[in-house]
Amino acid sequence: MSTYNWLARHLLAPSLDLMRGTHTMRSLTELEDSQWWSPERIEAIQAERLYTLIEHAYSHVPYYRRVMRERGLTPRDITSAADLPKLPLLTKAIIRDNLEDMCSKGPARTGMVVGRTSGSTGNPLLFYASRDEQRNRGLARAIRARGWAGVKLGDRSLHVHVAPEQSRRSANPGAWLKRELERNVDVEAVDVSELTLPALIARMKRIEPFYLGAYPTVVHFIASFIKDSGLSTPHPFSIITGGEQLLDHQRELIADVFGTEPYSKYSSFENWEMASECPSHSGMHVNAEDIILEIVDESGMPTPRGEQGKVLITNLFNYGMPLIRYENGDCSTLATTPCPCGRGLPLLDNALGRTTDFIYTRSGRRVVALGIPFNSLASLGVTQYQVVQNEPGHILLRLTAPAATTASARIAVENGARKLMLPSMGTDIDIEVEFTQHIEHTSAGKYLAIVSNVDHSQLPQDTVHADRTHSGGHSHPPSTHSGEERARE
Ligand SMILES: [Zn+2]
Repeated sequence: MSTYNWLARHLLAPSLDLMRGTHTMRSLTELEDSQWWSPERIEAIQAERLYTLIEHAYSHVPYYRRVMRERGLTPRDITSAADLPKLPLLTKAIIRDNLEDMCSKGPARTGMVVGRTSGSTGNPLLFYASRDEQRNRGLARAIRARGWAGVKLGDRSLHVHVAPEQSRRSANPGAWLKRELERNVDVEAVDVSELTLPALIARMKRIEPFYLGAYPTVVHFIASFIKDSGLSTPHPFSIITGGEQLLDHQRELIADVFGTEPYSKYSSFENWEMASECPSHSGMHVNAEDIILEIVDESGMPTPRGEQGKVLITNLFNYGMPLIRYENGDCSTLATTPCPCGRGLPLLDNALGRTTDFIYTRSGRRVVALGIPFNSLASLGVTQYQVVQNEPGHILLRLTAPAATTASARIAVENGARKLMLPSMGTDIDIEVEFTQHIEHTSAGKYLAIVSNVDHSQLPQDTVHADRTHSGGHSHPPSTHSGEERARE
């Protein structure tokens, strides 16, 4: 730890807490300790916090009071995460329709921040969060997660993200302290292109040492560019990716070029840091002291470990607008084996995909996109892909494959891709392959691996899952966000 890191941790951060009336550092100390507790002890504190939240929701939040009464429930019926299936799922539509009734009428109604999700999934959402949850717990979770990636308070950073709000260079001491703690350089994702990369890479070399935070596709793009152009490589001491799933082939190339294996994290506007990789890189640890992350089937019941299901989030500290069993549209899997690192926090398989990621065949058969081995496209020299489906029975597979410059090389890639997909997609689907130089990000800056424009109301009602087993590591970008894009105050 450098002197600066020591000052940041023991002087700057506590001063910022004092100035803002927050206790982020106290939460951080607690979280750094509790990560090593046994799973049983973590479950016990989780249960205690859940009971307090449910009691609060029942007493002060009209929506929860109503749904609990309708089900004949009182707070005593929900004393641990195992009781959560007694409560209904909370969809974005329910939040939209009950926005006012979802907010606490009790004391926690004060100190709220308003936030919006990016809407890149076609589902923008307005929500409220307690200042306490975001500044005291969410921020502490983020600092702990960065710690797992070897990043200390006060370390320089370079973040590539979408339209960072131009924070005014405010002269107030709190803003100054925050800048000195973060020592961050912001780069806009839209500014990252082949034209701008030489300058960006030179800039990265100037600010060493630093850690890099960005979407995995952006880091992968930078790594590919360095590899192909032969430019000398900047050396971030750590790389943290978020906002999309970090795919295996991206991880490999990034590690190869930068000499450091990236860390993936799972966060969102609504709930900030939810899960992150530890140095074992064997999955993402759920921040279970603050967040209950359930993996459930269509009926809202838990799926067995190792089986994919819908992600439901219960944030134990958002008293302002409790989100209990919040269905965020992602799906994932709980790992079957514990992490070798010894942390008692549950482990999430790295696979994360949106639950709407289905591909429909001509007969209306529904294929779970996570079950299709898109990951293996990398072995054909494909650096990026996108599947666009406008009607059942047809997909456009867009590929970037830099080495496939000749017609025969393209035919080989195309044939290889069809062969890879045949076992999961079957034969009642037409696959059109298109080679492209570049796959665009959405206006929100996200890379969408599956773009489905299928009109669901036109589909046969008896559509079935073709394959619910995930293919290990591959996933579509989840609706997560790098911490830097979270709800702004
Ligand atoms: Zn671990």
